[in-house]
Amino acid sequence: MSATPSVAIIGAGLAGLTCGTALKGLVPRLKIFEKSIFAGGRIGQFRAAEYEFNHGAQYFTVNNPLFWNIVSSWQSDNVVRPWEGWIVELEKGQVSNVDMATQRFVGHPRMQVITDQLAKNCDITHSANICEIEKQDDGGWRLFNERGDYLGAYDVVIIATEAHEAAMLCNNIPHIRESAESVGMTVCWSGMFAFEKKLDIPYDAAYVLDSPLSWVSRYQMSDPRTDADCWVLHASPEWSQQYVASFRGRVMHALLDAFWEAADISGQKPISSSVHCWKHAVPINPVGEDCLFVESDAIGACGDWCTAPRIEGAVLSGFSMADRVMKHLNKTDR
Ligand SMILES: Cc1cc2nc3c(=O)[nH]c(=O)nc-3n(C[C@H](O)[C@H](O)[C@H](O)COP(=O)(O)OP(=O)(O)OC[C@H]3O[C@@H](n4cnc5c(N)ncnc54)[C@H](O)[C@@H]3O)c2cc1C
Repeated sequence: MSATPSVAIIGAGLAGLTCGTALKGLVPRLKIFEKSIFAGGRIGQFRAAEYEFNHGAQYFTVNNPLFWNIVSSWQSDNVVRPWEGWIVELEKGQVSNVDMATQRFVGHPRMQVITDQLAKNCDITHSANICEIEKQDDGGWRLFNERGDYLGAYDVVIIATEAHEAAMLCNNIPHIRESAESVGMTVCWSGMFAFEKKLDIPYDAAYVLDSPLSWVSRYQMSDPRTDADCWVLHASPEWSQQYVASFRGRVMHALLDAFWEAADISGQKPISSSVHCWKHAVPINPVGEDCLFVESDAIGACGDWCTAPRIEGAVLSGFSMADRVMKHLNKTDR
């Protein structure tokens, strides 16, 4: 271990950013590597011309007391708000109310502000697709991107990517690789559509039954100059899996047709249409541990695939990972 311990976190999604924020000020050299040009991962913000959409996570719920504290601080910072929208269950035009006793929260004005806020505190290298981590003889790890460029050496490496990436990066760490390989992920086709005028739909979001869709949600545009009505449509995991390799145009039409059928209104031509396939959307069978850490190799992994398949799970996993890293550094410091 070097005199000034260093930690690299691979992945600037919610888990990596939470871990990085918790370690800030405690670790002399701390760096996050993110393959995308944005932080946030599956809390994605999608833009098509002047229209914007939350095309990944839609809202979150809170169960754990520690997460309540975190959400309270986000509320104080005006980053999240309780979701006051009208959410229903929808089955071929039949609308029924869902349990609104569960408090749902959303990022304000969009989900991605949650990760934007965390990213402000972190030193992130973007467009850094880490493809190889190499154990050094004297301890620590060397990082390389997909072109083989060397991106530095670190005492501790934390993998905060989706499970399949974690399995690949930890090819030589059986405990993490086997855990990550055991996790299955759902597929989710997400459609983003803008309509010139407000659709004749009174509710803000719906869980959709007996349909290729599982969820539809109106996106409240933050730009008051536009009247456009923006909707995100999520296909069900089963439908998405079946059509994972389909052409985008075909999926786009199928999602829209399913929307008109579920809402039981006549179809309208969108002024903007896009689709995105989340090939690793939500873990089906998380490992059931807060995070994973292999003390002898100074390497760990965190993310929703360790804990629970939602925002709360990713945050708690990132926190737990930071705690494990600090315990490790304090032990090796002695
Ligand atoms: C369509 C959809 C809907 C959802 N809806 C909800 C919801 O309503 N409520 C809810 O609570 N949760 C929801 N979720 C789940 C929620 O988004 C996730 O649980 C959470 O965002 C996971 O965070 P994470 O940090 O574990 O992973 P991620 O957000 O996936 O972050 C991993 C990061 O690692 C980066 N990365 C991967 N490989 C590399 C590499 N080799 N090098 C560098 N960087 C790398 C990725 O680019 C990414 O930024 C939804 C997810 C999807 C996809």
